[in-house]
Amino acid sequence: MDHPVLFPTHLAAAYVLGKRWDLSAPLLVVGAALPDLIDKPAALVGIVDLYQTAAHSLPVLVAGFVVVFLRRAWTPVWLGWASHLALDAVHMIVNGRPTDLLFLGWPAIRHTPVISLPPIAFARYYVATPSFFVECVVWGALAAAILRRRSSESRTERRG
Ligand SMILES: [Zn+2]
Repeated sequence: MDHPVLFPTHLAAAYVLGKRWDLSAPLLVVGAALPDLIDKPAALVGIVDLYQTAAHSLPVLVAGFVVVFLRRAWTPVWLGWASHLALDAVHMIVNGRPTDLLFLGWPAIRHTPVISLPPIAFARYYVATPSFFVECVVWGALAAAILRRRSSESRTERRG
């Protein structure tokens, strides 16, 4: 199973982007969740043979942009979706697997992932990779930002 980037990291990144860009954070989070919620079950039940297919496809993402162009309310969902693909791609580059970026070309490009392990074996492999440590730093920075914000809010409340 190729499961780049921890699922909660996708959701947290989308939430932060929503706050930064002043867009609906919940809709961005939904968009960021969709690729794995669509493609992983499809592979688990045997509809496709890879864990990154239609919802991880750049051509499908571009086609989705047409929907966004017609219905602007879907923009945050599309941006969350795009952020998921971007983070998966960054993970593969950080972990030295640039050829796995070919996943973005599905279905026009068929490729065999460099890493293809069952879930538990993949998790064991993943926690020793550079990408996992990058994610730990990101989570640490996020936790620090939340704590800083809370302490400044409580100082403001005490003053007021
Ligand atoms: Zn993914």
